[in-house]
Amino acid sequence: MSAPDNIFPMHDQLVTRQERESLASQRAHAYWMCGLSGSGKSTIAKRVERRLFADGHRVIVLDGDNIRSGINSNLGFSTEDRAENIRRVAEVSKLFISAGFIVIVSFISPTQEIRDLARDIIGSDDFSEIYVHATFETCASRDVKGLYAKAIAGEIKNFTGLDSPFDIPSSPLITLDTENQSVDQCAAELTAVIKSTSITR
Ligand code: ADP
Repeated sequence: MSAPDNIFPMHDQLVTRQERESLASQRAHAYWMCGLSGSGKSTIAKRVERRLFADGHRVIVLDGDNIRSGINSNLGFSTEDRAENIRRVAEVSKLFISAGFIVIVSFISPTQEIRDLARDIIGSDDFSEIYVHATFETCASRDVKGLYAKAIAGEIKNFTGLDSPFDIPSSPLITLDTENQSVDQCAAELTAVIKSTSITR
């Protein structure tokens, strides 16, 4: 969607993205974690955020807790609403990137199409896909939020992995295997990747 007729974006910013980035010795970037519900995205994202913050970096996690309960509280899980959810998350990510932040996004983002939409909005130089892997059976046995039991009982429709598809990313920056690695190992692996790509000191 293009800007409405009477909106004029200002390009003469007095504080640049580069200045904001250099203040925290980092390059702003969106690390977009996708995977089934319960695969471990938010658990890992929060650990990594803590580690990077402890090292003095500007980092934020965008996930269901702070997005679906607020800016996207009017959206459900139909195909259209999932696309709109991701579009808004991508726009919010872009704002944080312009503020110099490392953004860790934790959303199922089930289809390649939806993740490509996010990449298009954010820009491919500032976007990396992270695949958080655990099988449907493992996620169902974890059933952190009790959603799998409800979905299997037919109480939730359009449940990813059951009656709604999940496309495994074809070329993620990394795959975190949460079935065979601990939370600590996965968090250490993602932290190392972010440090090697986004930390400049
Ligand atoms: P998601 O954000 O993908 O929906 P959550 O992070 O909310 O998933 O839940 C993942 C669950 O799996 C948590 O209860 C977590 O403790 C557990 N878990 C077990 N092993 C791992 C691992 N290696 N990485 C992340 N979470 C794990």
